[in-house]
Amino acid sequence: MEINQLETAQDVSIMEEIAKFNHEQVVFCNDNHTGLKAIIAIHNTVLGPGLGGTRMWQYASDKEALTDALRLSRGMTYKAAVTGLNIGGGKAVIMGDARKDKTEAFLRRFGKFIESLNGKYVTAEDVNMTTRDMEYIAMETNHVTGLSKSLGGSGDPSPVTAYGTYVGIKAMCKKVYGSEDLSNRKVAVQGVGQVGMYLTEYLRKENATVYITDINEEKVKKVVESTGAKPVGMDAIYDLDTDVYAPCALGATINDLTIPRLKCKIIAGAANNQLKDEIKHGYDLMDREIVYAPDFVINAGGLINVYLDHLKEYNAERAHHMAEKIYDNCLNVVENAEKQGISPQEAAMLLGDKRIEEVGRLKVSF
Ligand code: NAD
Repeated sequence: MEINQLETAQDVSIMEEIAKFNHEQVVFCNDNHTGLKAIIAIHNTVLGPGLGGTRMWQYASDKEALTDALRLSRGMTYKAAVTGLNIGGGKAVIMGDARKDKTEAFLRRFGKFIESLNGKYVTAEDVNMTTRDMEYIAMETNHVTGLSKSLGGSGDPSPVTAYGTYVGIKAMCKKVYGSEDLSNRKVAVQGVGQVGMYLTEYLRKENATVYITDINEEKVKKVVESTGAKPVGMDAIYDLDTDVYAPCALGATINDLTIPRLKCKIIAGAANNQLKDEIKHGYDLMDREIVYAPDFVINAGGLINVYLDHLKEYNAERAHHMAEKIYDNCLNVVENAEKQGISPQEAAMLLGDKRIEEVGRLKVSF
């Protein structure tokens, strides 16, 4: 009796968690033979199959892994919806040590789980997954996108993400300063990895003054040499007197500690989940009169890249062309927010909800 009660209580809490943001389906994958433990979360498939990468992480608990999968898959739904793509939101997390646990059989077993969903979930590379890992997964399922160029895929999406972020920054400058010209603008780029490096190149080509920082000093040195950007300390980036702060490293850098320090008028960068608290910090930025381009609107270039690949219609020119629309998307979100007196983050989510609802209604008749 006691055991039954315990099981019931746990069942309810998992279902409540899944219901909280209205997820459609969550698949718990287990294989004792290979040691695979994974969760595939499908948030919403009204616009198309749930697309989102697979990440591998050593989660402290199953609950933490589930929360991550639910949060990330929901984010993919909104990113696709506001970008105007016909694709839904999904994400997979594999629990384990990416350095030790991955074997061919482990990854192919995971591919079989994806295949069992018959295309309702489409995966791609994410944190701690390599091109080789994706190749093993693709041996068992066709529902993989963004494979390397050597396998006929679209390859690294970072250049398109950077391009979309760059046009988004121009849109925000147009909104705030009345001109998209960047030659007199000062931009702080936090993180010069794949996206930050390409972004810095775009900004420097327009003669913007660009300050960069990264934990990796070698990367900073390389980008300083190739672009003429100015290096700054990791913590000093928050105090700089710049027009734009472009987070391109980690999430949650916009929080109670950093917001009071920021002197910029615009936050527009590629990192995912920039607001530590998506409601509170969205409004805190409004109080400081800082215009925020929601991350999932401005960094959608990478999703555009894998989306075209998934449709088997990929070419780099087309991806860049589609990413140009991020300019209008950013302006539209910020102007909608202004009209409604709400934060850009909320306005973007409402636009996403609206598109899903309206397109969803079309499906009731032939
Ligand atoms: P990356 O790993 O190539 O680059 C991240 C860089 O940030 C690294 O150079 C790292 O050393 C640096 N970094 C880490 N912590 C830092 C800190 N505290 N201060 C300064 N620098 C720090 O990753 P990426 O592909 O360039 O992606 C950057 C961000 O954009 C991530 O948040 C990612 O989720 C997001 N994003 C990327 C894409 C894409 O196409 N690559 C698409 C959408 C969103």
